[in-house]
Amino acid sequence: MDLSKFNRRKYTDYKTPIEYLANLSKILACNVYIKRDDLLGLAAGGNKTRKLEFLMADAMNKNCDSIITCGAVQSNHCRLTLAAAKKENMACHLVLEERVPNSYNPKANGNNFLFRLLGVDGISLVEKGANMADEMQKVADALAEKGKKPYIIPGGGSNEIGSLGYVACAQELYQQMYESKLHFDAIYLASGSGGTHSGLLVGLRDIGVETPLFGISVNRNKDEQKKVISDLCEKIISFHKLPVKLSPEDIIIDDKFVGRGYSYPTEGMVEAVQTLAREEAILLDPTYTGKAMAGMLGHIRSNKYTKEENILFLHTGGAPALYSIPEVIINGVGVDRL
Ligand SMILES: *Cc1c(COP(=O)(O)O)cnc(C)c1O
Repeated sequence: MDLSKFNRRKYTDYKTPIEYLANLSKILACNVYIKRDDLLGLAAGGNKTRKLEFLMADAMNKNCDSIITCGAVQSNHCRLTLAAAKKENMACHLVLEERVPNSYNPKANGNNFLFRLLGVDGISLVEKGANMADEMQKVADALAEKGKKPYIIPGGGSNEIGSLGYVACAQELYQQMYESKLHFDAIYLASGSGGTHSGLLVGLRDIGVETPLFGISVNRNKDEQKKVISDLCEKIISFHKLPVKLSPEDIIIDDKFVGRGYSYPTEGMVEAVQTLAREEAILLDPTYTGKAMAGMLGHIRSNKYTKEENILFLHTGGAPALYSIPEVIINGVGVDRL
């Protein structure tokens, strides 16, 4: 896919590094690599930065002056959207969903602290299960009344425009594989609102890379998440008229690492976060990459791979959320999270 025809802002000046994890590889008896998308640009980085390059360019192209988006109370996506808006001199309003009852604390640390530090222009809190599109539209209507030009970014920035960020990542990865003569036998990533998983899958297949992509679900059960990914892939393919044909086997979801639900800590997550910190000095996060890493560790420990095989983990960021639950991360899930 020729991405040069799209409007795009640039928030990262380099390719994110692919690092060999020597200590972890030794323990696990296979070759583990990590692509450091936690080192992307904008405040504290993470995967949403890539999506926002295309989404913000679209908003600016439409002469909008106010961004509205939504997420959970510790949303990385909200933090990065707000950061991008500030950089582009736009206002930013957030609609936060209390997915875990009573989890919103206006004084909480982590991403919530960063919302305040970055100077959020408005926060509306809604209950679990609220229709987020309707709630964002209400904010947009109120801003339009005041003469503003609002632009709505869906949850996770996961639409046919934001997902282009991960089509771009597929192309970047392909170039790095070529330059370093590295072949990967499997790629692991967290699968949430789906733009990362879908964009990377479509992007890799579009350039002929057939590596299996393992999406570790952080929220939905397997069938629901497969449908989210397959629908978004179809949307990307048809909207951009790509010559990509996916087969059902291309979409791989493992839902065994979600635990009680979105953002609820699991023992596996705590173990994965501690292991990566103590063996490799890499900070994962409790909601996404901790669970995705727990999934990858689980697969490798079940002897799925030989010691010659190369496994890549896509680190999508999120570390600021660690600071909202320090005791859970150090002492385990028995500690009350809120
Ligand atoms: C949003 C997010 C994900 C999931 O990406 P989606 O495109 O929503 O599936 C993974 N990791 C982190 C840290 C995130 O913030």
